[in-house]
Amino acid sequence: MPANTDELAGAFVTPPIALPQLVPSRTCLQCDVCCRFPDPDSALRPYFTENEITLALAGGIEATAFPNQLGSQVILVPDPHGEGYLCPAFDAATSKCRIYEQRPLDCQLYPLALMWNELHDQVLLGWDTKCPFMREEIPAAIQRHADRVMALLDQPGVRDHFVAHPRLIGRFQEDVVVLALLSRLTEAVAGQWGTAPLHRFTLDDIPRMTTTLDQSGWRHAQSLAAYSPVYHYMWNGLLAYWWMELEGALCLFVQSPDGWFMPLPPIGAGPIDAPLCEAMRLLRRWNGDSPVSRVENVPSRLVPEFERLGYRLTPKEPDYLYRARDLASLAGDRYRSHRALCNRFEREQSFEMSSYQVGDRQDCRALLADWSRQKRAEGLESFGAMLLADAAPAHEVIWSQAAALRLTGKVVKIHGRLCAYTFRYWLTSRTFCVLLEVADRTVPGLAQYLFRETCRMAVAEGAEYINTMDDAGLPGLRASKQAYHPVMLIPNVAAFPACTS
Ligand code: SF4
Repeated sequence: MPANTDELAGAFVTPPIALPQLVPSRTCLQCDVCCRFPDPDSALRPYFTENEITLALAGGIEATAFPNQLGSQVILVPDPHGEGYLCPAFDAATSKCRIYEQRPLDCQLYPLALMWNELHDQVLLGWDTKCPFMREEIPAAIQRHADRVMALLDQPGVRDHFVAHPRLIGRFQEDVVVLALLSRLTEAVAGQWGTAPLHRFTLDDIPRMTTTLDQSGWRHAQSLAAYSPVYHYMWNGLLAYWWMELEGALCLFVQSPDGWFMPLPPIGAGPIDAPLCEAMRLLRRWNGDSPVSRVENVPSRLVPEFERLGYRLTPKEPDYLYRARDLASLAGDRYRSHRALCNRFEREQSFEMSSYQVGDRQDCRALLADWSRQKRAEGLESFGAMLLADAAPAHEVIWSQAAALRLTGKVVKIHGRLCAYTFRYWLTSRTFCVLLEVADRTVPGLAQYLFRETCRMAVAEGAEYINTMDDAGLPGLRASKQAYHPVMLIPNVAAFPACTS
């Protein structure tokens, strides 16, 4: 990960914690592995603690690079000269780290790596064979270096640092050669975070979550769009999602700037009492008495259970559900204005609609920036502007991972210029959800046309219902969703444990 700027082989670098370095900078400067990533949600992007964020900000890195100022993986930026993504501290022109002296511990460690074993019950120290230097170095020299690093990692202050920031311990990677088991660190992590393994939520976990959601029985044609992994996964660039098996249920946790919460109740086929009790015990341990401890997106069928268990229930913005044929045909007086706008777009524009390709990413990025400017110029309220800023990393994840997430994307080009895009997913075989829709607001009828065509395609594939998710409490969005005449507003509830109320 580190892009060296100085000859630091064998030297110690700057506080707060400084690790010895093995790889000489001349090797780093010739390599194109570190600090560059293929996808925006890469699990390997560096993690900065609160202190390290402060130092990075002082070194000129923008605050927007860190979604959680108390500690977070950095938000990557698109590589201006390639397809992938860069750490915002990386200077592509010189191949150097702009904050090398203040770079985080995560980067200092590399090409050593802290990771869990396959069973996720033991922390390991390994060396990453992706680093070309480590492929050539003799194992005895690597082991000597690792011993020096391990001695530092074993110091209580340093160990506490890793315990406080479990994201510094990565997932098991087959191409990392194991050098040592770190028993004391393992025990310390278990003491803080619980003995059940806490896993980062990655693309590999999507099949498991899908199967468990199917078994839960919550997912049906008229259920919340949140009962799909992609709904949560897209925020992984911004927030940190984790999961854990508790009492036979899959428990999803979100680490947000305010603290930890559950974006869904414990997912499983059995009763929720035991897993919910365990999950709340952990939230209390992680959050203290903060009211941030809560369960979001509680399905209606579980509401009596939560009431019985003494939770305080608060209604949230509902999802909008439409009959798919209504939106595909836009027939009748109530859709007259939508129909007129679609007709105007078809009449006035020379355009083509096609499937999204990953090569469209750059154009989508430019469109999102324009669209955000247009929205702000229209006088977007501050909460809406904040949501818009947060949306960019989520869109990056979608553009990059659409195929892996089984999302269907469509783009509209006018005279070859990409002017609109949309992504959707199937919640069940009868309901599809519109995840994103962005259309140049200066082109009359474009948004209405794209939405109608998306609905028509879904109907042709068997959709009965269309879920466009909630309105985030934004009056403008609410009015435009209401204007399409939903057949149902799907209730959404958040549950707060009584003791933190
Ligand atoms: S902080 Fe510096 S060393 Fe670490 S990934 Fe970013 S550019 Fe590379």
